[in-house]
Amino acid sequence: MPIHAELLCVGNELLIGKTLNTNAQWLAKRLTTLGLEVKRITTIGDNIEEIAETLKEALQRKPKILITTGGLGPTFDDKTLEGIAKALNRSLEINQEAYKMVEEKYRTYVKEGKIEKFELTPHRVKMAKLPEDSKPLPNPIGTAPGVLLRHKDTLIIALPGVPSEMKAIFDESVAALVRKQAQNVTFFETSIYVDGIVESEIAPLIDEVMRDNPYVYIKSHPKGVKKKPHIEIHLSTTAKDSTTAKKRITKTLMQISDLIRVKGGKTRVPKRVKQEG
Ligand code: ATP
Repeated sequence: MPIHAELLCVGNELLIGKTLNTNAQWLAKRLTTLGLEVKRITTIGDNIEEIAETLKEALQRKPKILITTGGLGPTFDDKTLEGIAKALNRSLEINQEAYKMVEEKYRTYVKEGKIEKFELTPHRVKMAKLPEDSKPLPNPIGTAPGVLLRHKDTLIIALPGVPSEMKAIFDESVAALVRKQAQNVTFFETSIYVDGIVESEIAPLIDEVMRDNPYVYIKSHPKGVKKKPHIEIHLSTTAKDSTTAKKRITKTLMQISDLIRVKGGKTRVPKRVKQEG
């Protein structure tokens, strides 16, 4: 059984369509390839009550990993940690480790000439105020640290909204934790490309093959135009080891390809299946 994860993306800019939620796509892909099952992605605005309520709802579903993005910065609308503290009934307090991280960043910014003088203003100190019993995660390229805390069996990880910072913290501090939770399972995926047959004719074939191969997820992605159908069929599985995963995908790939050819479709099969995780 894959480990269950959820994402909570915070930011008014996502809701008004100003910013494309690339963090969700990147994290969903990374968590999946690390062997987790992302069951839900929620997007909400910068509002403490809503963050707290949405987080509480998510926790009721008992995900092993719950990652938030956005709202960790110094500005008035960065409310994620307040929302998390409220949901968990914890106080928001200066975390000494986080304070040192933020302090060090601003000393470096002075040396680099990015700011004139060293000063820890209330807006800057805000980035070191974490829910009690949290661990700050170093931000290798920005200022606000990520935050790690545990609530019962759920690891809550708060990451910044800026994509490059979010990715850097994930790679440096979160990926190893996730891999441990996922107990080193392997994710495999591959695609075949089909011409000359429409999606509605492929649908019953997919049903049949999925019945015979319950651990492989198959999804068709139509890419062509009406008169010239061109369909990608994506196959994926998560297994305890790469041999099992590869065997499952190969068997399923052969079965679906055979059925499509019998129906008159042409398939292009990749040279090898892709392994990640
Ligand atoms: P900062 O320290 O810069 O304030 P933050 O953690 O507070 O970081 P936000 O203020 O919420 O993050 O967002 C910073 C920028 O990151 C936004 O202007 C937006 O362009 C981008 N961003 C936020 N969320 C996402 C997302 N889910 N996907 C892609 N980009 C995002």
